[in-house]
Amino acid sequence: MGGQRIGIVGSGLIGRAWALLFASAGYRVQLYDILESQIATALDELREELQQLEAKGALRGNLTAAAQFELISGCTQLKELVQDALHIQECVPEQLQLKRSLYAQLDDLLEPQTVLASSTSTFMPSLFSEKLKRRSQILVAHPLNPPYFIPLVELVPAPWTTEEAVERTRLLMLTLGQRPVVLRREIQGFATNRIQYAILNEVWRLVSTGIISVADADRVLSDGLGMRYALMGSLETAHLNAPGGVADYFQRFGGEIAAVSATYGPTPDMGAEAETLAEIARQCEELVPLEALPARRAARDEFLTRLAELKRQF
Ligand code: NAD
Repeated sequence: MGGQRIGIVGSGLIGRAWALLFASAGYRVQLYDILESQIATALDELREELQQLEAKGALRGNLTAAAQFELISGCTQLKELVQDALHIQECVPEQLQLKRSLYAQLDDLLEPQTVLASSTSTFMPSLFSEKLKRRSQILVAHPLNPPYFIPLVELVPAPWTTEEAVERTRLLMLTLGQRPVVLRREIQGFATNRIQYAILNEVWRLVSTGIISVADADRVLSDGLGMRYALMGSLETAHLNAPGGVADYFQRFGGEIAAVSATYGPTPDMGAEAETLAEIARQCEELVPLEALPARRAARDEFLTRLAELKRQF
């Protein structure tokens, strides 16, 4: 990757995670933030995090923690960040107006060889790129948290994004050891959240109607479906679950799936269903009290590393 430059705009949680990923593959990374103090904090935390990852044997890539840290620097000018960059990864807060005004600024600076990707979890790329001169170089590259341990990145083009920009980003993600998926056109929620929300909706309905507890609903995933889904998706799971493969599976079970699906009921409005929300929060906090969340997150990340190793052998 010898010295190719990556610019990261926004040095919060996700910007830092991208910095680690790009440095692990040997790219030179510059971190920009509107708050200069945030850049210094980010660099301090990244140095510490790299050392911790190395000590735990969880450091990615072939370079030492010190060598990876050497590749990361701060940058206080957008113009300098964009100059000669191979790729810019935008990681500013999830506010459409903020993104729009930032992209308008970047549009004047972006060079023809640079792809500009947004980490946004929710905004379709057309929402912030439509009016821009460089709009064909802009797309979404949506990671899942924590990106260092979860390899999926969703690539979502706007109608005017070139195939070349998508393909270059896909290849770039592969050099990081990430596992990109490409949506052929943009859609609200992309693929991950659409599937995630379908699950959340049904879990909510099952809990709110008193059919199952929070702990048991979560166990259906963590001790059941998720065991398989960590290895293969729902369609390959179906493919393996009938003697004649997936066509046989849907011929046998398609009617049953449609019959059950017809009983799902309306989409819940989760923020507005105060009683259910309070009950779900109560049960969740019984399982993991709020003060225990940081420790539980750390345990999750540690086990995700081990799971990632195990998955590489599958
Ligand atoms: P964050 O609040 O941790 O960090 C945002 C950073 O952007 C801050 O350091 C802030 O100072 C900086 N910033 C604000 N305005 C700026 C500007 N105009 N120019 C440069 N920097 C600016 O946010 P985050 O959680 O890292 O999220 C960043 C993006 O990543 C969002 O679009 C979010 O949807 C997406 N994302 C977040 C997660 C997650 O779990 N947090 C997961 C996937 C994607």
